[in-house]
Amino acid sequence: MTDPQPCPIALVTGGAHGIGRAIATRLAADGWGVVIADTDQDRGGEVARILAEDGCRAASFIAADVAREDDVRHAVRRAGGLGPLKAIISNAGIMVRKPVTELSLDDWRRVIDVNLTAAFLLAKHGAPLLGAAGGSMVLIASTRALMSEPDTEAYGASKGGLVALGHALAVSLGPDVRVNTVSPGWIDVSDPPEALSAEDHAQHPAGRVGRPEDVAALVAHLVGPDGAFMTGANLVIDGGMTRKMIYAE
Ligand code: NAD
Repeated sequence: MTDPQPCPIALVTGGAHGIGRAIATRLAADGWGVVIADTDQDRGGEVARILAEDGCRAASFIAADVAREDDVRHAVRRAGGLGPLKAIISNAGIMVRKPVTELSLDDWRRVIDVNLTAAFLLAKHGAPLLGAAGGSMVLIASTRALMSEPDTEAYGASKGGLVALGHALAVSLGPDVRVNTVSPGWIDVSDPPEALSAEDHAQHPAGRVGRPEDVAALVAHLVGPDGAFMTGANLVIDGGMTRKMIYAE
């Protein structure tokens, strides 16, 4: 009898809450061993405990600030020690909303470091393991890479950078490693869910605000066998909101 295949391992940053938690949950249900890297130890540990009952092997939590190279190196090494590292989901992200004239250089750098530099660090340290396992990366960007509200310069720049970093990595790391970017629109991650108005839903051609599970399903497709021909893409998942023309009444 041959040994069973080791279960594939996915490292999900920011997996303690919101979209990252939904991605970790979906991948565990699909048979992945999931490693969550997050700054939130309470929530991250709790999610890993719940997923341990579901996943291919005990899900793990690693306390990590993705803006710090040592933390990223350590998280990748821990994940790679559990089995073949076949997916890295760079999802952790923060927003600072301030007028550009009041945005400090520290604010700007922190947003760029957490949202964009982290993806570079994950690629730098994860690429050899992903390549050996025939794996892939997904970078969670935003429709704010393509359009803006006022006072979101650092966030928008970080997300635009992720879209460019995604195709650059796809070209550099292919064919061994695939890299795609996912750009969600409005996803309700409030816990418990926020009371959304009929207008909130109706402004989406799909008829509703997004849910974390919508993004998780797309990520699961990209990192799974059905995503084998997908690389260098930026996939917008926004219920059609960025396709809708708006004229003032
Ligand atoms: P969230 O705030 O619900 O969760 C983010 C998670 O990242 C939290 O668990 C937090 O602890 C963790 N985190 C924050 N900084 C970190 C750091 N330095 N190191 C490690 N972990 C850190 O956010 P969300 O809405 O689920 O967003 C997830 C990703 O999706 C982000 O990149 C965000 O920009 C992007 N996004 C969200 C939406 C939306 O509408 N929710 C839309 C587009 C894009």
